[in-house]
This record gives sequence, C-alpha cells and structure tokens, in this order.
Amino acid sequence: MTTKEKITNITINQDGLQLLQHPALPVVRIVEFLFLSGPFEDIESLLGELVEPIETNTATYEDPAGILKNYLTTLKELESLKKESDSISPKQIILDENLNKLEQFTATSLWVTQQILTMELERINSFLCGPCNCILCCVGPDSDGEKSSGAEKQQHFFEIPLTEAETDLFDLPIISTEESIVTHANADFTLQCDGKPFYETGSAIYKWQNGWSMILPRGEVCSHLEKSKGACRIYPERPTVCRRPQIFPYALEKTPEHDRKIDGNSIPAYVNRGKILAVWDCPYVRELKDEIALYAETCGLEPVFMENKG
Ligand code: SF4
Ligand code: SF4
Repeated sequence: MTTKEKITNITINQDGLQLLQHPALPVVRIVEFLFLSGPFEDIESLLGELVEPIETNTATYEDPAGILKNYLTTLKELESLKKESDSISPKQIILDENLNKLEQFTATSLWVTQQILTMELERINSFLCGPCNCILCCVGPDSDGEKSSGAEKQQHFFEIPLTEAETDLFDLPIISTEESIVTHANADFTLQCDGKPFYETGSAIYKWQNGWSMILPRGEVCSHLEKSKGACRIYPERPTVCRRPQIFPYALEKTPEHDRKIDGNSIPAYVNRGKILAVWDCPYVRELKDEIALYAETCGLEPVFMENKG
C-alpha cells in the first residue's frame, strides 16, 4: 500500500520517491560488467545468480534481480556485445557530440541507459504527479490563473507533441498544409492561419516539419481534462508525452537529420547528451530538486533544471 507524506504544500508519493532514490542504472552498470567479464550466455542466467542485496554509495538494493526483470527485454540488448559485430545489423546509430559514430560497447550501453531511464521515469513521474492536484501539463498558458511566472506570461501557447496515431484521440481541427509541414511551432516566422498567428485560432492539431502536435493557446484546456476533478478522461490511453512529464531522460537525443541509409534502410541516429532534464514549473520537481539531482548523478548523468517547457 502506498504511504503518503505531506511535504510543505504538496503530497509526495512515497512509491515515486523510493524509485527516485533507487535508480536501476547503478545496478545495470554492475550487470554490464559481470555479463561481459563472466561466463554468462545470456542475461537471464546472470540474473539467476544475482541473489544477494547490492549496496552502493547512495542506496541498498534488496532485490536487484527483481528490479532488473522489469527491464529484461532492454537488458538483453547487451547480449549483442558477445557476438561478432559483423553479424549484427544496426537498429540505430549512436553519435558523440561531435557527430562521430561511437564504438559498439559505448553505443549499446547508452542505448540501454536511455531505454531504462525512459521506462523508469515514466513510472516515477506517474507516481509523483497523481497526488499533486495540479493540471499545469493539460492547460494553455494563463488558463487557470495558476500560471503566473514572467516566462509564462510571454508564452502564447503550450505544445503537446503527438504521434500520428495519437491525433485520433482528440476531436480537434487538423491543420496539415503546405505551409505547416515546412515549419514548426516555435519557428521565427509564425505560421499564419486565416490571416492570424496560428495560436490565435483556438486549440488544434498541427502537422509540422518535425511531427504532429496539439496546440493549446492561452486560456484553453485540453478537451480531455475534467477540470473540476483535475483528471484526464482518457488516462489509460493518454498520449506518450502525457505519461512522461516533467523529469525527462536526455542521455540520447533523436536527431533525424543525421539518420543514415544502410543497405537501403533508413537507420535512426541519436546523439549522446548525457543529461536528465527537469522542468521547474512542476511542483514535485521544485520539491524534490536535491533528490532529482542525486538520481541523475547516480546514473552518471548531468541534471539540468529548466525554467519552462517553452
Ligand atoms: S490527454 Fe489527458 S493527460 Fe494529456 S493533456 Fe489531455 S487531459 Fe492532460
Ligand atoms: S506540472 Fe507536474 S504535477 Fe503538474 S500536471 Fe504536470 S507533471 Fe503533474
């Protein structure tokens, strides 16, 4: 059962806090080392021998194998490191910040890092958001009188990126024009619709050069938000981006402009960024600043706190 504890003016979910204080990545690093230096044929056989608690500088992991079983599919990507690299077709290309291709071990380790962080932070964010009684992620700027920072006052809209399939979740106008698909929401030149900036024409879904997004202009709320309860009406089916506020994994950044063609297939490219991003607007980020910084550092990443999603 979840125990909750009141900290200043918001409630911190203790399951979320526990996960934040016990990141999986330090144990993943140990498994990487054991797997590569030991006689293990696969990850399952290694986890079968991981029966003792593991103590690190910052936490004790009573059941390390139990934690890692949540990430088994991703961890099994490490098995490729024991195969001839010539026999493996790359599923992605990992580049360093100078856009040089990283060697297989570093690239695989970074890929595993980003996948595990993404899954773990989705759980952490979901736990922490629930009891905050906050709707900031689901409303346009200044739509509820609660957004009051100077940065937000200058904002004209809030953008929620969507996949193409997720656009069907919303009963909103779809704008996909010759002009929209060659620009993006934050471009210097503002897309005009009906002779006005696009963000002055009401909530809508746009197809941009960099993908789809829902635009919530000033004063508007997501059509699925039940404002009186602060609840999402489509919570189990909500878009991916709604599942992953406001601590973001940024170990890798997807960079479509560097995708490469290999044997006729387009292989997606990612650049090593080595960071975890957290947005100050969020009450649990403000409350848990030290814990988030320690989480990032324990994962070998730099914590970056941003003023606003923009
Ligand atoms: S879909 Fe749900 S979680 Fe996402 S913005 Fe709308 S109300 Fe919020
Ligand atoms: S700002 Fe934070 S607490 Fe508020 S809705 Fe978004 S994730 Fe939840």
